Formats: sequence, C-alpha cells, structure tokens
Amino acid sequence: MTDTIRPGGLWVYCERGGGGVRPVAFELLGQAARLAKAMGCPVTAALVGNPEGAESLARYGADAVLCAACDADQPDELVQAGALAALVEKYRPAALLLGATAFGRSLAPRLAARLNTGLTADCTGLDVDPETGLLLQTRPAFGGNLMATIVCPDRRPQMATVRPKVFPVPAPDMTRSCPVIVEQSPAAESAVELIERIASGGGVNIGDADVLVSVGQGIGGAENIALAEKLAKKLGGALSASRPLVDAGALPYARQVGQTGKTVSPRLYIALGISGAIQHMAGVAAQTIVAVNTDPDAPIFRYAQYAVRCDCGAFLREMMERIGN
Ligand SMILES: Cc1cc2nc3c(=O)[nH]c(=O)nc-3n(C[C@H](O)[C@H](O)[C@H](O)COP(=O)(O)OP(=O)(O)OC[C@H]3O[C@@H](n4cnc5c(N)ncnc54)[C@H](O)[C@@H]3O)c2cc1C
Repeated sequence: MTDTIRPGGLWVYCERGGGGVRPVAFELLGQAARLAKAMGCPVTAALVGNPEGAESLARYGADAVLCAACDADQPDELVQAGALAALVEKYRPAALLLGATAFGRSLAPRLAARLNTGLTADCTGLDVDPETGLLLQTRPAFGGNLMATIVCPDRRPQMATVRPKVFPVPAPDMTRSCPVIVEQSPAAESAVELIERIASGGGVNIGDADVLVSVGQGIGGAENIALAEKLAKKLGGALSASRPLVDAGALPYARQVGQTGKTVSPRLYIALGISGAIQHMAGVAAQTIVAVNTDPDAPIFRYAQYAVRCDCGAFLREMMERIGN
C-alpha cells in the first residue's frame, strides 16, 4: 500500500463525461477539503478509466488521485461499481461522496450494495459531527416537508450522493499538485451492452443555464409555453418547468426543476405561473428570482426579488414587444 492513501480518508468519485470531469466532482472536492479538515484526513479523488489529466484535480482540493484503470472505453456503472469496490476494499476510506447525476444515481446504490454499507441519496448538506467525527448527511424527507440528517455509524465507507449545483465550484488553486496512483481493475464482464447514448431534453442541460424561464401550471397553454421558450432564447437561456407540466407531458423530465428534478443555479430565474411549493424551490438556487403570478399570496413571492402580479400571457407578450420579437 502506498503511503499517500491511508485508510480512513475522504473520497470523492470523479465522474467523467462531456469531454472531461463532470463539474459536480469539483463541487464535491471543494466540500471534501472543508470536511476533511474536521475529520483530520486527506481527500482522495477516485476515478475509473483513463488517468490522463487527473493530477489537475489537486487544484480543487484532492490530496491524491486514485484511478482504477480498466480496458473498457466507456465503462458502464456495473464495471465501475466493480472497479471502485476493489479500490475501497483495498484502501478502506471512511467516506465516499458521489455526484447525484443520472450516472451517479445508478452507480452509487450498486456500489453500496457490493460494499454492504448504507447510502444517503440526494444530500443537500454535508457536515461532520465534532464529537464522533461521523459524516452528517442532510437531505429532504417526507416529501420535502422536513430535512433529515442521517449518519452511518457502523458501516464503512459512509456513502452519500449530492446533487449537482448544491455547492459552488471552488476557485482552483493552480499551485497545488498531487500524486496519481493507478491500480489495474480486475477484469469485469458487464451484463449490459451500450448501443447508443441519446441526450435527453433536446441536448439542453438546465443545470448549466445562466438564465431560466420556468413555466408552471399557471402558464395557460401551449401558446404561452412557446412564447416562454422564445423569451428564454432571446435572453440566452433555456426553458424549464415545474413538475405538473412535466407529468402532463408538456416538457421532458430533463427540464424539471425541484426536489425530484434538477437543482439549478442560474443568475436569473423567471418563474411564470409557479406557486413556489417547497418541493419546487428545493431545486432553485438562483441569484435573482422574478416571479409572475396572479395570486398576491403565492408562496413564490417570498423567494422572489421581483414580484410581478399579472397574467403570464400578458407578461410574456409585453416582454417580447419590449425586447423585440
Ligand atoms: C415528493 C414530492 C416531490 C415533488 N417534486 C417536485 C419537483 O421536483 N418539482 C416541482 O416543481 N414540484 C414537485 N412536487 C410538486 C409540488 O408539491 C407542487 O405540486 C408543484 O411544484 C406545483 O407546481 P406549479 O407551481 O406549477 O402549480 P400550482 O401549485 O398549481 O401553481 C400554479 C400557480 O400559477 C398561478 N397562476 C394561475 N393562473 C395564472 C396566470 N394566468 N398567470 C400567472 N399566474 C397564474 C397560481 O396562482 C399558482 O400560484 C413534488 C411533490 C412531492 C410530494
């Protein structure tokens, strides 16, 4: 065993995709650096596949990188679960954080089951208990009506997935570097054959958008949804929605904001005919919220910096006229 990775560390799984490491890994490395101080342990970035460029993860908080090299070009979650389980069994980390991306949500339970440990999914907060040193994993429970803080006292590693955009990406420290340790993964046969990857949501990732125009049940029909999309494009942003519109098939699931959809953190969030239910707002971490609603008591107005009390259709037509069709 190398002396750079000792048992009891804090690991962050770094998912690759879209031509690099997914941003959620940087977000988690930043948090891990904070938590590791309280736990008195180093931070290890764990990844599967090609270690090329992995040393740059040090800039975001990794003290070491541990890479499970494997033959597969695009190792699926079954292959990755096997590779990571082998690393965990060898190096025995105290805790392992993963991004709650579509892939991470599929990988994490498979890995937890292999390791016979617990998993807290979709955390929105992480901390360390100063007395026990246990990872405090906070997530919405009972339909988002209360926040539960969960610990895993008896099994290791303590495992949690965290939604993208819950934490900010730390400013990279270009002076940091770290060792990269490559381990050959045990040969793994996957039961799954990957035929093709099809991007959902028309290739738009609302989690990356700087401006979101978001439509809810008060939007008033397809014509207004089309107008909202036009406005979003004019503002250089994207269209998103509350859950009822997605459930009704008006927009694909990839456009859903909220507890069971995506967490978004645009600079500007224009909420059209959205009441502001807690499960919706759990996914909104916007700098500025503009809420358009006919009901003066709509909860969304409590979150909004700009409250516009009017009909969505009238608002959209006025906006389009002012900024030019
Ligand atoms: C476990 C669980 C998970 C959930 N996850 C999610 C989630 O991820 N995302 C999510 O969005 N919801 C989620 N929900 C549902 C959530 O509780 C709400 O029901 C939902 O967010 C309401 O959507 P809405 O605001 O579009 O509709 P409504 O609550 O019906 O609000 C419509 C609003 O439009 C206004 N309005 C009506 N007509 C007009 C008009 N002409 N012009 C302007 N305003 C108008 C009304 O005053 C009202 O405020 C979840 C619920 C549960 C139980």
